[in-house]
Amino acid sequence: MEFNVLILPGDGIGVEVTREAVRVLDHICAKYGHKAHLKEALLGGIAIHKTGGPFPAETEALARDADATLMGAVGLPEFDNLPPSQRPEKGLLGIRACLGVFANLRPVRSYAALLDSSPLKNHLVDGVDMIIVRELTGGIYYGQPRGISGEGDTERGVNTMTYTRAEIARVSRMSFELARNRRKKVTSVDKSNVLECSQLWRKVILEVAKEYPDVELDHLLVDNCAMQLVLNPKRFDVVVTENMFGDILSDEGAVLAGSIGMLPSASIGARRPSGAWVGLYEPVHGSAPDIAGQNKANPFGAIGSVAAMLDYSFGLKEEAAAVNAAMEAVLNSGRVTADLKPKGTPATTAQVGQAVCEAIG
Ligand code: NAD
Repeated sequence: MEFNVLILPGDGIGVEVTREAVRVLDHICAKYGHKAHLKEALLGGIAIHKTGGPFPAETEALARDADATLMGAVGLPEFDNLPPSQRPEKGLLGIRACLGVFANLRPVRSYAALLDSSPLKNHLVDGVDMIIVRELTGGIYYGQPRGISGEGDTERGVNTMTYTRAEIARVSRMSFELARNRRKKVTSVDKSNVLECSQLWRKVILEVAKEYPDVELDHLLVDNCAMQLVLNPKRFDVVVTENMFGDILSDEGAVLAGSIGMLPSASIGARRPSGAWVGLYEPVHGSAPDIAGQNKANPFGAIGSVAAMLDYSFGLKEEAAAVNAAMEAVLNSGRVTADLKPKGTPATTAQVGQAVCEAIG
């Protein structure tokens, strides 16, 4: 297979972890006989320094052309006091909008070697393997009307939770298709006992479910889901929910895995004519200025994002499984970075990337 991948290392540890992710991608391609055409471009603080803006036109054009985009992280402390419109993070919103990605997928899984790093008891977290699908472009973060008006005791803040049938249906279908390739179970999360918006959500996903009779669907109210994620996280396979509920639940899910450096993510848009999903892949963590430039960032989140890209954008399931298995082998070997508290001397970012390639074979 041949594919074009745009690489956006970004700022801080984004550069370091992306280097290792690309090393693993190159290695997988060499082993399985694929050809990845890689182009690199600027995003975030480095783009502001070099071009005056966080999301240059050249980056936008390359992102539109690429089959998938692999991103590191953006953010530099020197921009921290500027208004949001002038900060590196504005580049993230720019690329997400340009690619039209409407669902954020966060795989959450436990690793035997990291069970003790989880805040939950080992028996609860051992065997967790779920994907949280968060709708990304609708809901209360974007709904109108919004704002603050009036004064004194009647001063009022307003936000509006709103979804159309089409918005609910497309993220529902994506979730059922993901589940089809997994344990065939979708849990839809809403607040339909109180919110009309959630009642429409439940009605539409029930209709979509008829197209997927091989996939089981159940529903949880968001407050109960927050509880079940810590009481019985193994019950979940694919969880789908609206934007704000997903924002909150995916961070709750994130702590199950032990370290923020472990977590990959995928933001997915429409399907291309080839059947592949438009995808933007990135670790969940930020640019970590406190450890940037020290070769000690954990690259697993970025490497896991490569596995997600191989799977969702290119349908290369065997290759994705090989990357995941290699990461697990390296974790078990103890050659890991300082955040995972290894017994001996911590490995560097580059050593972990090299170890994953060796484990792939
Ligand atoms: P952060 O995720 O960068 O760091 C939080 C803590 O986790 C730090 O102590 C850091 O050292 C540690 N950490 C993060 N990733 C790690 C890794 N791979 N290995 C080891 N330790 C790791 O969050 P923050 O400090 O709140 O934000 C720093 C900058 O990153 C800010 O400018 C913020 O806006 C930006 N940010 C960007 C993204 C993104 O690009 N998607 C996401 C979150 C934050």
